[in-house]
Amino acid sequence: MGKQACAGTIMGAADEKCTVTGCPVKTREDWAGIGKGCGMAGIRGFLIDIDGVISTGSDPVPGAAGTIAWLQEAGYPFRFLSNSTRRSVQGISRRLTGMGIPAGPDSILTPAVAAASLARQRGWSRAFLVTTEDVKEDFLRAGIVPCGEACDCIVVGDCGKSFSYDTLNAAFRLAIAGTPVLALEKDRYFRDDDGLSLSAGPFVAALEYAAGRQAELVGKPAQSYFLAALASLGLAPGEVAMIGDDAISDVQGAMDAGMAGILVRTGKYSPDALAACRRPPTAVLPSIAALREYMEGRGTG
Ligand SMILES: [Mg+2]
Repeated sequence: MGKQACAGTIMGAADEKCTVTGCPVKTREDWAGIGKGCGMAGIRGFLIDIDGVISTGSDPVPGAAGTIAWLQEAGYPFRFLSNSTRRSVQGISRRLTGMGIPAGPDSILTPAVAAASLARQRGWSRAFLVTTEDVKEDFLRAGIVPCGEACDCIVVGDCGKSFSYDTLNAAFRLAIAGTPVLALEKDRYFRDDDGLSLSAGPFVAALEYAAGRQAELVGKPAQSYFLAALASLGLAPGEVAMIGDDAISDVQGAMDAGMAGILVRTGKYSPDALAACRRPPTAVLPSIAALREYMEGRGTG
């Protein structure tokens, strides 16, 4: 049994002990990131959530830029794997760069880009887009034309204050007539500048309830989204750790895909969300700023 088994197999229950020789993890608390576990032993790259990890609302998380710079210096490949559906990848790239984190569009994966790729694979060229104007740019760049009727699919993302009855009702009429629905994400909420705020999930749920049909999830925790990110990195699941503030979408989703899952106590983190995890995360860190210390101390006790 390899060292990575510590991450989610051996320590799958609170009273289990890691049996890997030399592993300093002896208790659930150790394993939850207070100590230094061997769960990171085979990690060569990272997937990094943005909202709640790199930034909270419009404020950068202290130390995030330094951690990203260290990852680059240390030669760890990484991608930003966001569930943000309000901004295009170009917009996210500009925002990260403005925070002192130079990040080209190719280093950023979003559900909108994944949905546009999925639509093209299926031969769909016209979409009813319940998205922000900025995100529509991602679809136009991929050759998907926004349209109001006779479309191939409906795409629902987080529109913030632009959600309206008229738009959702138009989407509902298309959905109940049989048009497939792609949900860019189904997150319940996120932490904005002024507090927890509705994400796209509640609106997708309303559409599903009214139309009596399920949307197809594109963003986290959809396994296809994680697998696309792994392919972009060129690494196997056991070589990658996902860092996120959402215990379910980020951490459990990544662990289900065979990756290590690091939960950070920033953004939307709450002890209740951690307690609700089916299995504990590989590690729980105060913030992404603690990643370097955690990685450099791995396996040394
Ligand atoms: Mg997040």
